[in-house]
Amino acid sequence: MTKLTPVLSAHWDEKDSFTIEGYKRHGGYTASAKALAMDPDAIIQLVKDSGLRGRGGAGFPTGMKWGFIPQGDNREHYLVVNADESEPGTCKDTPLLMANPHVLIEGCIIACHAIRAKHAFIYIRGEVTHVVRRVNQAIEDAYKAGLLGNGIDVVLHIGAGAYICGEETALLDSLEGFRGQPRLRPPFPAIAGLYARPTVVNNVESIASVPAIIANGAEWYQSMGTEKSKGATLYSLSGHVNNPGQFEAPLGITLREILELSGGIRTGHTLKFWTPGGSSTPLFTAEHLDVPLDYEGVAAAGSMLGTKALQIFDETTCVVRAVLRWTEFYKHESCGKCTPCREGTWWLVQLLRDLEAGKGTEADLAKLLDLCDNIMGRSFCALGDGATSPITSSIKYFRDEYIAHITHGGCPFDPVASTLFAGAGA
Ligand code: SF4
Repeated sequence: MTKLTPVLSAHWDEKDSFTIEGYKRHGGYTASAKALAMDPDAIIQLVKDSGLRGRGGAGFPTGMKWGFIPQGDNREHYLVVNADESEPGTCKDTPLLMANPHVLIEGCIIACHAIRAKHAFIYIRGEVTHVVRRVNQAIEDAYKAGLLGNGIDVVLHIGAGAYICGEETALLDSLEGFRGQPRLRPPFPAIAGLYARPTVVNNVESIASVPAIIANGAEWYQSMGTEKSKGATLYSLSGHVNNPGQFEAPLGITLREILELSGGIRTGHTLKFWTPGGSSTPLFTAEHLDVPLDYEGVAAAGSMLGTKALQIFDETTCVVRAVLRWTEFYKHESCGKCTPCREGTWWLVQLLRDLEAGKGTEADLAKLLDLCDNIMGRSFCALGDGATSPITSSIKYFRDEYIAHITHGGCPFDPVASTLFAGAGA
């Protein structure tokens, strides 16, 4: 069985893990000292060799992204860290930053040196004030210790709280002071990003993974994970489980193994459905317990690894209600730039509300799928596509449950007896 492999989370149980002293006690800031003495191109090559892929959802190779920054162009380069975590179920960057903000700052120093940038911006959600305070304190302490301010500066930017600002180009617009809406690409951020300068945008966990790679080498990192998905990563387990939280394991572990290592589904209940990577990734069911949770394995089974947010729902959950709740989120967070998403998510909610309340028809179900078909692949950014994923996948696996709402004239679910379709058709 694959085992948990705490790397990022190795010292989270120590009382002072978030302080500079706690971080240094375990070798913190030695990797950046080593990296600053290295040739920047050698660092990029090392990160490429490690096989590290972006942990924000897309899984793009991190070293390759850094390698896209034009060198010797005599222009400012920027590093932007995306800490705008806000997808339902996604909760890895927040605990990471609370437990060890210095690993991100050290990763910023290394990444800035590699891409020849003098400034890193950490874009963080304003709602998570406790995280903002913690990262702010860590930045201050790093300046006092002389780790920042000697050619590399880190700026903390507090966002106003819009899910779309997790999309990298909307984040850049927001950072520049504009309304956060996705930009047309090309040009890509590596060519014209923040203030139209070459910019790398990376997720918190991606940058935080770099110090250990510099310290231990590419081979060490490659020794974990699967053929194309290297390394260890944070899986966030939430919902109907005995022991929710972060579980760091090599890519390719299965949900069955994570549940065995973490205490399982809540006692006396059975798994009904789950998300492998947050609410924008197609649902899985108990059939998928042995799918390898790496980029390729999850894609081959019809979903996406996304942010590795494993939201677990047992047999007491009405899937129609859960999907309606997620869809309301996407409707609320649609930035309004393109018609398929702006209008489409509104209509999705109307149809789902009717279906959930037992006022829908089979024609509405067909209309719901038709709408999804017109949003998917026709929206300006991935938010529109993501909004359709829980709907189409839930109808694929639980069509009978949608039909039961129609025939029953309401939710047929009896949460007390934990019985689905109790009285359906009555
Ligand atoms: Fe905005 Fe939605 Fe269009 Fe993305 S898909 S640009 S969030 S309206």
